[in-house]
Amino acid sequence: GTADLDCDLLVLGAGPGGYSAAFRAADLGLKVVLVERYASLGGVCLNVGCIPSKALLHVAAVMDEVSHMAALGVDFGAPSVNIDKLRGHKEKVVNKLTGGLAAMAKMRKVTVVRGYGAFVGANHLEVEETSGTSQDKTGKKQTIAFKNCIIAAGSQAMRLPFMPDDPRVVDSTGALDLKSVPKRMLILGGGIIGLEMGTVYSTLGARLDVVEMLDGLMQGADRDLVKVWQKMNAPRFDNIMLKTKTVGAKATPAGIEVTFESAEPGGTAPAPQTYDLVLQAVGRSPNGKKIAADKAGVSVTDRGFIPVDIQMRTNVRHIFAIGDIVGQPMLAHKAVHEAHVAAEVIAGELLGNKELASAAFNARVIPSVAYTDPEVAWVGLTEDQAKAQGIKVKKGLFPWTASGRAIANGRDEGFTKLLFDDSPEAHGHGKILGGGMVGTHAGDMIGEIALAIEMGADAVDIGKTIHPHPTLGESIGMAAEVAHGSCTDLP
Ligand code: FAD
Repeated sequence: GTADLDCDLLVLGAGPGGYSAAFRAADLGLKVVLVERYASLGGVCLNVGCIPSKALLHVAAVMDEVSHMAALGVDFGAPSVNIDKLRGHKEKVVNKLTGGLAAMAKMRKVTVVRGYGAFVGANHLEVEETSGTSQDKTGKKQTIAFKNCIIAAGSQAMRLPFMPDDPRVVDSTGALDLKSVPKRMLILGGGIIGLEMGTVYSTLGARLDVVEMLDGLMQGADRDLVKVWQKMNAPRFDNIMLKTKTVGAKATPAGIEVTFESAEPGGTAPAPQTYDLVLQAVGRSPNGKKIAADKAGVSVTDRGFIPVDIQMRTNVRHIFAIGDIVGQPMLAHKAVHEAHVAAEVIAGELLGNKELASAAFNARVIPSVAYTDPEVAWVGLTEDQAKAQGIKVKKGLFPWTASGRAIANGRDEGFTKLLFDDSPEAHGHGKILGGGMVGTHAGDMIGEIALAIEMGADAVDIGKTIHPHPTLGESIGMAAEVAHGSCTDLP
């Protein structure tokens, strides 16, 4: 058939995966079309995810810090919050970044097509135009022909089927709207997204409950890290309901009445509770089933994920997929790296460049960060995993009570932990396999541990690397020295 537009590469979705792929491919000389249904580029991460949440978390962290200052002799008094202005700040941050992306797309001559895309064949996508700030379809359609395609259509928040359609029930996007601060808030799901948003609302004055099916909050992180966060944050919560299922909810004039059930056979259920705001943060589901992938012959799993190989190629040779839509972990930095791989493979094949064409996603580790207060960050093998899998590790743990900088900051509750291979084959010189940090700015420091893992560093490499004093990052070097047994004097 005839097409209204054609290109070397069509990228479906302009989140961190999509725009990174489009930009890299354009830089490599390809003619690129980027299709996005929303008014701005940046996807979930920039518009309703990573960035707006961090804008609010920064303000919350400053407020919490300031409230601790009275004990140090400087009392700022009670904060006065102008929520409209705060929301405006968050919007400015988002607009600055998404506006920057639009300029970068233009500079690279990436054609941005606004609309809802769906495959109509293995080399054609139909785009139904959307307009304004809403996703209203204008009825205008165009067909784009492509030689190659990268699917980067992302994911969306999951909803519990029995949740009433009520403005007092929100997902993370609704929570980021920050319309008002509730008195009582329920966080449904004790993962990173829920706990970050809970941190913001609690600092602004809400009392929190959290309900989680599993036996602990912030799954994936080692329990010793989470324990430090939980101890510091206990005052924010009225009820932390673990091993508990949410089974019903009803909108009443007094609030959203939520009922619970024990997730354990024979366990007792907490009493029903009424909330001013319920945040659903029970996970995200991939958008694989909403793009007519079958019309292009692309396989999609029952859950909506698109399987790919290490070059990010789907079962159809010229169609690739990246980001949240290909699987866990659903993180922006993973999407960006996958994007570069897919763009390079495609450019390499089109331009006959073998080196580019052989690009592959072979990261050893992908760091995770909860931007709570304190932050919890981890990468690679965790201690809990090592135990479960019977992997022998040597641990170097450096408590921040021994860090001059943490003490000077009045925030010495954290610690840094490194895990080294202690198998007989390592002969006492095992490489670093994983690490975790809890404390202020932990997320800004975890990248060093990721680098050490990628480089195959051992405890001596890390311990002998001179870190500046006094910094929190120094704790990584000290933890390595502890593991190596050469840590004699602490700062
Ligand atoms: P998305 O960002 O989901 O982008 C997909 C894009 O495709 C969207 O813009 C969508 O509109 C578009 N699209 C989908 N279908 C179509 C279609 N048919 N036609 C046209 N366009 C379409 N990750 C981190 O690494 N760090 C964080 O701190 C962090 N914080 C988060 C906080 C929150 C509240 C949330 C919800 C997520 C957070 N994440 C964070 C996760 C992060 O946002 C995602 O991993 C990331 O956005 C995934 O990028 P992506 O490119 O795969 O997809």
